[in-house]
Amino acid sequence: MNGVNLISKFDPWRSKLCTCPPKLTFNPYTGCDHACVYCYASSYIPKFFSCRPKKNLVPRLKREAAKLKGEIISISNSSDPYPNLEAETCLMRKCLEILSKHDCKIQIVTKSSLVVRDVDILKKIPSMITLTITTDNNNISRILEPYAPSSSERIKTAEILIERDIPVSIRIDPIIPFVNDNLENLVKTLASIGVKHVTSSTYKIKPDNWQRFSMVMPKTAEKLKPLYFGKGEKIGRYTYLPRDLRLKLMKKVGMLAKNYGIRFGTCREGLSHLNTATCDGSWLIS
Ligand code: SF4
Repeated sequence: MNGVNLISKFDPWRSKLCTCPPKLTFNPYTGCDHACVYCYASSYIPKFFSCRPKKNLVPRLKREAAKLKGEIISISNSSDPYPNLEAETCLMRKCLEILSKHDCKIQIVTKSSLVVRDVDILKKIPSMITLTITTDNNNISRILEPYAPSSSERIKTAEILIERDIPVSIRIDPIIPFVNDNLENLVKTLASIGVKHVTSSTYKIKPDNWQRFSMVMPKTAEKLKPLYFGKGEKIGRYTYLPRDLRLKLMKKVGMLAKNYGIRFGTCREGLSHLNTATCDGSWLIS
């Protein structure tokens, strides 16, 4: 597998802070129509919010899937594999049908309730779903993730998947101070529906996501400015919160998870000593 293939080695922007176990990655679509304000991928993929399927997706995937040897494939890391467009195209479903005939394990990372449609295929593959739920407040999710399903719809989706014996981890990511850093109710709700793993991380600024954030939450952006641009640190191409604040936020989520019997992992924070399981929740794949 290499960079020109559809399926390639998972290597998130060569980040030294990534602690994921070895796995592959695959994106059926280029771009994403959820248009999240904080999206990182929009900074390096042109016309990102105009979602389009990969060229010759199905024949290419058929060829590449035949070479798999039991690896974990994370779908997707640069775009959501269930954009709104998927309801018409059913391309992700076709991809899962192909992968189910080959030797692999699947981790799906999504915000969409559409994933429930494909449970029948997922039952045939060692798999898990990672749902991103940044808040339990629908008003906040509507501002931050305008075209993704609401927070309550995503919580319901997690509940349905767990009821159908599909392992689920939740990404509470990104956490933005003054916006969604009060997480007790969300973690309590997740525990009550049977979630076993939470991965979390703080908001990292890139010029384009900061521009969008400043438009939709101008007052909060003013409060965040000194934290990021005064005391924060530059890591790779991202501007991070200061390390002591990141540690405080991640410890808070880790402690909540522990109190509710949920395993916990941090993502690209340099704080892996807080992890109580494989950071990405892939330990849930049976
Ligand atoms: S769902 Fe993910 S890939 Fe899609 S816009 Fe939101 S953050 Fe970006």
